[in-house]
Amino acid sequence: MIVEMRKGATQEEINEVVERAKSLNFGVQLNVGTDKVVVAILGSHTGQTPTDVFAVLPGVERVTRIMKPYKLASREFQPRDTLVNCGGVTIGDRRIVVIAGPCAVESEKQLRQAAEAVIRAGARILRGGAFKPRTSPFTFQGLQKKGLEILAAVREEYRIPVVTEVVNPQDVKLVASYADMLQIGSRNMQNFALLTAVGKSKHPAVLKRGFACTITEWLNAADYLLAEGNTQVVLCERGIRTFEDTVRFSLDISSVPVLKRNSHLPVIVDPSHAAGHYSLVPAIAKAAIAAGSDFLII
Ligand code: PEP
Ligand code: MN
Repeated sequence: MIVEMRKGATQEEINEVVERAKSLNFGVQLNVGTDKVVVAILGSHTGQTPTDVFAVLPGVERVTRIMKPYKLASREFQPRDTLVNCGGVTIGDRRIVVIAGPCAVESEKQLRQAAEAVIRAGARILRGGAFKPRTSPFTFQGLQKKGLEILAAVREEYRIPVVTEVVNPQDVKLVASYADMLQIGSRNMQNFALLTAVGKSKHPAVLKRGFACTITEWLNAADYLLAEGNTQVVLCERGIRTFEDTVRFSLDISSVPVLKRNSHLPVIVDPSHAAGHYSLVPAIAKAAIAAGSDFLII
């Protein structure tokens, strides 16, 4: 349920809405806009509570039910676009920025060369995995802590923000101490313990789409991050599993305008993990930008 306060509603009036919600065992999240405050009333039993419980309170303009299963990620809760700050680079202000780098950090030399190449090519953020969520346990699992140290050294040397994946709730603090943005990978999109831990960290995060998940499931996963008070969330389309086998995954380009319509969160497209071959990346990247993507991860 969304309680929109009147323009100029006083702090006491806002507090009264919050107190009423708490007295009914609801959670609350405030969205403080430039001209008004919106209070989201959250809980599994909002459907059984009449909207009048809040509509009668002073300073309340309107109470509406969010019919979508996701709440905090929805445009109903926050009409304006969210801006995410990744180490000083803004994501979501319609400037197209590229994040680039290798799948995995393999050595200091490799990452340094990658940093030089991506900076030369105009990318603003460096990526590279230290912890890798691999389909097979026999595939290289990443350099882990050593990989984080390499990322941090290259970040300092080249003054470029870095994004890296976290695969385990226990590692969130560690990874956040080295990286400007935490990546939650496709295979972990519905790892709710990880989502909650990243949410609690309040560290900027990019949530990749589960390759067998719907957009609605994806936005529900984003709600896990937002519910812990982490407002710095970016969504990354990276392709979904279909019957098509000429590409690694099928990039769902339509998710970009669907997300833009239904959510305030910035959208990044990763053409590389979808295509699986570098020769396909330029065309898919251009399609992503044309569809409205804010950023690219290459
Ligand atoms: C990656 O970014 O290297 C990665 C593992 O991506 P995804 O989670 O989209 O497969
Ligand atoms: Mn990869």
